[in-house]
Parts: sequence; C-alpha cells; structure tokens
Amino acid sequence: LTRLYGPLTALSNVRVDVMSALVSFERVFEVLDLAPAIAERPGARDIPKGSAKVEFRDVHFRYPSASEVSLASLEDVASLDRAVNDEVLKGVSFTVEPGQMVALVGPSGAGKSTTAMLVSRIYDATSGAVLVGDVDVRDASLQSLRDTIGVVTQDSHLFHETIAENLRYAKPDATDEELWTALRRAQVGELVESLPEGLDTVVGERGYRFSGGEKQRIAIARLLLKAPSIVILDEATAHLDSESEAAVQRALAEALAGRTALVIAHRLSTIRDADQILVVEDGRVVERGTHDELVVTAGLYAELYRTQFAVIDSPAPRPTSPAPA
Ligand code: ADP
Ligand code: MG
Repeated sequence: LTRLYGPLTALSNVRVDVMSALVSFERVFEVLDLAPAIAERPGARDIPKGSAKVEFRDVHFRYPSASEVSLASLEDVASLDRAVNDEVLKGVSFTVEPGQMVALVGPSGAGKSTTAMLVSRIYDATSGAVLVGDVDVRDASLQSLRDTIGVVTQDSHLFHETIAENLRYAKPDATDEELWTALRRAQVGELVESLPEGLDTVVGERGYRFSGGEKQRIAIARLLLKAPSIVILDEATAHLDSESEAAVQRALAEALAGRTALVIAHRLSTIRDADQILVVEDGRVVERGTHDELVVTAGLYAELYRTQFAVIDSPAPRPTSPAPA
C-alpha cells in the first residue's frame, strides 16, 4: 500500500480510506500536483515552457489490477477486478492544438475522465503515447508537467488551512495583492473581502464553510495563480444554484481564456464553443467534429444532444401557473 498511500498519508487533514484514496487521486493531484503511482524517469526532460499542445497516439489503457496495487483491504475486490481487467481506452487518438478547446462528451463510463487523467499522468497509458508540448509525458520531468497543466474538477478540494495557504500551493511566493487579483478574477474577491479575517480565514469544518460553488471559485483562483498553459476541466453536472452557477461560469471563462482546454463537457454552451468535440463511447472516439457538423449526422452526438445536452441547459421545468385573468 505504500506506493498508493505514501503521498496521501502525508496530508494529515485528508481522511483516507481505500476507496476514497482511489477517488481522491484526481482531487489531490489538482492541489498538490502529485501523481502518486508515477515516477520520473532518469534523464527526464522539461516540457518547454508555455507548451500548449496535447496529443494522444493510439492510446490503450487498462487500470492496474487490484493485486498490482495491493488493495488487500478493499471490500469489493471482485467487482474492482472485473472492472480493471477490461481495457478502458481502446485506441484513442486526437490532437488538441495550442489555444483550442476540445470537449469530450459521451455516456457515463465511456472513458472521458480516464482520458483526462492520462494527460496529467495520474496513470500511464498501457500502450500508445500521450504527448504534451510534443514531449511524451513518460519522458517529461514531473515539475514541468505540473507547471504546464492545471486541473479543475466539480468537487474542488481545499485544505483545512487559510485561504492564503490554499492559494499559495499554486505559487508559494505570490504577494497578497496577487492573491486578491486572482480571487477577484475568480468571482470570489468580494466574498473573501467581507470575511473578518480576509485571506487568513480558515477553510473547512472548524473554519468558514464555503458552499460548493465558492470552493470551486477559490480553486479557480488557485489555477489562475498557477497560470498553466493547459487546463483540464471536468465540468460534471453542477448542483449549484443559478447565481452561484453563473459566477462559476464567469470564473471558468477567466480560467480558460487564452489557454488550451480539454473539457469533459456537460453544458451545451461549452460544447457549442468547442473547436472540436470528441464523442467517446466504450473507450473509443466514435465521432469528432464541431457541434454544427455533428448535430446533422444521425449519430451518437445527435442523440446525446436531443436527450441530454439540450435538456441540461434549459431551465428546470416549472409547474405551469394559470395565465393571469
Ligand atoms: P467517464 O468519465 O466517461 O464516465 P471513466 O473514465 O470514469 O468514464 O470510466 C471508464 C471506465 O473505467 C468505467 O468502466 C469505469 O468503471 C472504469 N474505472 C474508472 N475509474 C477506475 C478505477 N480507478 N479503477 C478501475 N476502473 C475504473
Ligand atoms: Mg467522468
């Protein structure tokens, strides 16, 4: 378990059990940019600063088997084993050109999040290659990889520390003024200003309890401080109230502006804006193109569009009130 647990147990305020350790890889990576199971190879080279291209070359991937990661105490080893024995990505190829936004869409379990995790090298491809700035990520120094890529997820993780400390994970030498600028751009400056302790407000259970949308905006401020050239965003389905949702959208627009973006998209607005949509199904890219190109084909995208995206972006149905007399 050492390989899996090492970096996590170091974080005394992160509650760790086996399953949550598995699902928190992404979240802890978002904060500390540690890829737990991945080592830097001797002679690794830096991804050139400002590199913004992402390329998948015939990537196949299966999750390491339960025995490989020695999850002896896992309650449901059998079901995990079944899942891990299957190839999750079955030959994925695509290129995100610098400055482009590429949206990954597709049914749940298709492999979208897995694809995103391979870019930040939380796992390595089983075969094929993932390149960032034309460097195979397996040959890249971890520092240059973590400097190049920023991750925002729906369920953003903040540590039980002050806001300033949470932000300085991204840029240890940032001045207070830089922190405020990032918070304002992330649409959370006014809120932090209104707190008696400002930047020194402690986040979390024994401190100030931010809402989900507020936490996400602080995480976006952290990303703005880090200023990566590539952003990976798992939009997930937001359960935010509409005011918070609008603020998060403005903050994300700041975070994505001028950067390369790989977005697991659930909102029609994001999908429509994408330079390229990759429709993922059962570990393969089954369709690719723009919204306008794909919507007129009678394929999976057109179906998803009809059944999901169009619905998600329309206002929640309301009971129809009788027309005024
Ligand atoms: P999506 O994001 O498109 O919903 P995922 O990439 O999360 O899909 O999952 C793709 C497949 O990989 C699913 O069958 C899922 O059950 C499996 N999977 C996801 N995470 C793990 C993991 N940590 N270990 C084993 N299998 C996993
Ligand atoms: Mg997912």
